[in-house]
Amino acid sequence: MASSAQFATLEGKLALVTGASRGIGRAIATGLAAAGADVVVGYRSGKDEALELAAELGGRAIQADVSSADDAKRLIEEAGDVDVLVNNAGLTRDGLLARMSDDDWRTVIDTNLSSVFFTCRAVTRPMMKKRSGSIVNISSVVGVHGNWGQTNYAASKAGIIGFTKSLARELGSRNIRANVVAPGYVKTQLTDVLPEEATAAMIQNTPLGRVAEPEEIAGAVRFLASNDASFITGEVLLVDGGLGM
Ligand code: NAP
Repeated sequence: MASSAQFATLEGKLALVTGASRGIGRAIATGLAAAGADVVVGYRSGKDEALELAAELGGRAIQADVSSADDAKRLIEEAGDVDVLVNNAGLTRDGLLARMSDDDWRTVIDTNLSSVFFTCRAVTRPMMKKRSGSIVNISSVVGVHGNWGQTNYAASKAGIIGFTKSLARELGSRNIRANVVAPGYVKTQLTDVLPEEATAAMIQNTPLGRVAEPEEIAGAVRFLASNDASFITGEVLLVDGGLGM
């Protein structure tokens, strides 16, 4: 049950966030630490940023390419007794399907979706043993509604939703919850590459009339990770300013 405090604390919990060197992952790690969690900052190439953030949060940083099964398994093992796993690492390789290379397809599926399989598989047994755990996987509004030029990305993000709902069914009886946060448009390096017209069109279709700050995604993750969401599993929480309505 949730505590009587204003927000459920994550004190005493170990939280691992993948792709936490920058952008949304960085905000998620910061938010979980602010809620009391001991945080492990997962990163692939952003070593300096990850080490700096870990020092700031009093946590640790671990390098791993989560698209590799071996690296993902090692990441979970090195992190230790993980209570909260946030699969946030992701990338885009946009292009029309007719011209999409095998490499652009595989890189996106491996990084965004297979990574979630690898880390969840590795964390499941220890979480089952202690009959407790919370997993939050970061999808996208694109995984729900699709998007022009993003068949690979949409497939990976839709896959995360089906995967997480299935996992929630498998693990519910062990008191392990698995949920999805599906952000709309957030200003990060991932979206910096989009043409200005695409950004303007997205904002126009968003009832709240703006893009999100990474911290607004982090708030939803903190909620789902904590005991404030103790009876929520298999849920997809759209954090998109109304874009997907
Ligand atoms: P970002 O600024 O580009 O950051 C991506 C993060 O993922 C980086 O920390 C990067 O690590 C890490 N990463 C990429 N490939 C990796 C790999 N193979 N192994 C480990 N880490 C890897 O992107 P963002 O906007 O914060 O996106 C974070 C998540 O939110 C992604 O899953 C994205 O699909 C999702 N999302 C974003 C938006 C948006 O509008 N920005 C909307 C919906 C969903 P290094 O830099 O250390 O390599």
